Amino acid sequence: MQQERYFFQAEAKQLLDLMIHSVYSNRDIFLRELISNASDALDKRRLELLAHPEYSEGGEPSAPSIRLSVGEDGKTLFISDNGVGMNRDELVKYIGAIAKSGTKEFLAAMKETPGQAGADTLIGRFGVGFYSAFMVADRVDLVTRRLGEEGGWRFSSPGDGSYTVVEETRNEPGTTVILHLKTPDPEKGDRDYTDEWTLREIVKKYSDFIAYPIVMAAAKKTDDGEKVVDTVLNSGKALWRRPEKEVTEEEYEEFYKHIAADWEAPLGRVVFSVEGGAEFRGILYFPSRAPFDLHYAPRSEGVSLYIKSVFIMNDCKDLVPSWLRFMRGVVDSEDLPLNISREILQEDPLIRVIRRSLVRRILAALKKMLEEDREKYVHLWKEFGPVIKEGLASFDGADRENREAILDVCLFHSASKGGLVTLKEYTDGMTEEQKPIYYLTGRKLEVLRGSPLLEKAKHGGMDALLLADPVDEAIASGLPPYRGHEFKSLERADAASAEQKDAPALPGGLVSFLKETLAATVKDVVASSRLVESPACLVNDDEAPSFNMERFLRSMGQDVPPIKRILEINPGHPVVKNLDRMLLEGESKDKLKDYAFLLHDQCVVAEGGQIADPAAFAGRLSSLMAGLPGPGGENS
Ligand code: ADP
Ligand code: MG
Repeated sequence: MQQERYFFQAEAKQLLDLMIHSVYSNRDIFLRELISNASDALDKRRLELLAHPEYSEGGEPSAPSIRLSVGEDGKTLFISDNGVGMNRDELVKYIGAIAKSGTKEFLAAMKETPGQAGADTLIGRFGVGFYSAFMVADRVDLVTRRLGEEGGWRFSSPGDGSYTVVEETRNEPGTTVILHLKTPDPEKGDRDYTDEWTLREIVKKYSDFIAYPIVMAAAKKTDDGEKVVDTVLNSGKALWRRPEKEVTEEEYEEFYKHIAADWEAPLGRVVFSVEGGAEFRGILYFPSRAPFDLHYAPRSEGVSLYIKSVFIMNDCKDLVPSWLRFMRGVVDSEDLPLNISREILQEDPLIRVIRRSLVRRILAALKKMLEEDREKYVHLWKEFGPVIKEGLASFDGADRENREAILDVCLFHSASKGGLVTLKEYTDGMTEEQKPIYYLTGRKLEVLRGSPLLEKAKHGGMDALLLADPVDEAIASGLPPYRGHEFKSLERADAASAEQKDAPALPGGLVSFLKETLAATVKDVVASSRLVESPACLVNDDEAPSFNMERFLRSMGQDVPPIKRILEINPGHPVVKNLDRMLLEGESKDKLKDYAFLLHDQCVVAEGGQIADPAAFAGRLSSLMAGLPGPGGENS
């Protein structure tokens, strides 16, 4: 017989080493992983049998099940399913290489946090699927046959970085994983995974809700003595069909881990059961962490659709809008036809009804968490806030109806307070005179915090929201009024005017000098009363894009024509007073022009922007400094 020896992909080998010398304390979970894979394979089998009636021509396929059994030597554990199985290519691809996202990150993180605690949190965070078998076994064999194909294959690996694949006969499609168990060391607290009650306990704890029967032959006392009979270890009851009160926290958590392929507990959940009209029920979870790579779509992503308890598809994108794409869970409809396809689904009015209802429920759950557990909500917001905010920019009619409700659960950085505030908190803190909700957009929070445009706020006049997420620029200008208050950018020329009827007068000579000198970049020069410490700032009129938008467009390679701003100057500031004095005293025009350019450019710097001619700026600054009084200086 031909035998081929292969080597694991480098990352797979590293992960494997980690599993073998595992410092991870909870080894029981290997069973959950293998059962979970068996269950996935049975889901796939169902779908393939529907799509390929010819696969069943040889006779009715046997009823789907997952079987646990112990070898006669008392040292091997078999986990067998009659699911879809794998052909040779699939075997090498899915088991020999790790196609999983996050593996590289996992290994990198592991190097940084070695040891027990590191392993527990990291394995808890990434999950390692099939490889967890090597935590309990010295050698792992896997015999499999692909549904719809003839021959079978045996994979075998001692976990040393290599594995072999040979042909093997197998009567029916499916997969059997054979674990050659390590000898348990009771002193280390190792458990015996051939023991019936140990297996029962682990299945009950981690896999009770698996929809297929998990069967084991077990001795049972009967009237005519002891007999070995097949026993089903799991209840198999869909969690969402059980009354919420009867399901324990632990069960909800384990179910989440199964469907989301996440090892970390979720932050919260929405359990629903809707009757009358459309009938559907299910569970949606808020994960506690955003996926490592948002662009990578893991297989078990999103919300799965069931119809009358039958699994139909993973990641049914039509069930929740894209700004809730981080939700994980299950929706089970009573009314949709079982043979529905993804294409038809999009148009189905029933799906729209369900989606609408789910969005309302999720928003209500977010609001509840915000009110009841601020700390947890802030955690959630930091992970998913930027995604949720996308909902405010959506043009979908249904999303637009929810804009007020979305705004209600948004958190924003505040200029005057250190942490995050809700809009309600912001508006509650407004004075009688302040009408609009003020905000400032930019790339970096720190830059925004130092912006001269905020000086008035910093001096206690009013607060402003600081929007520094990439999505903010797109949503900021289109925000609907919140509780009757319009949103207004502080960059706008009239932003401060409502509160400052008493803008002080400016010396006319200086204004016309500045206008003339800066004509290429500035369209007007006006007095400002929003400034306290700074001599000047640049603002926009209503037509011009914001600084941040301009920057964004340029970074996207767009050809943005030069945008002229309005220069606001602080008449009481010593710099402005000095300029005025020098002008009146007949100082040289060249020197004054240099000062005018400096004044303008330092405004650009303060807002985090790029100066058009940095070399000229540096030159002017140097000559200014050279003229400063100092030891032995000419002007001293
Ligand atoms: P995951 O389940 O997250 O994909 P695993 O490491 O658990 O990662 O499994 C890797 C892949 O191996 C699975 O996606 C599947 O394609 C294949 N596989 C594992 N176990 C089975 C099985 N019992 N039947 C069929 N395919 C399986
Ligand atoms: Mg798996």
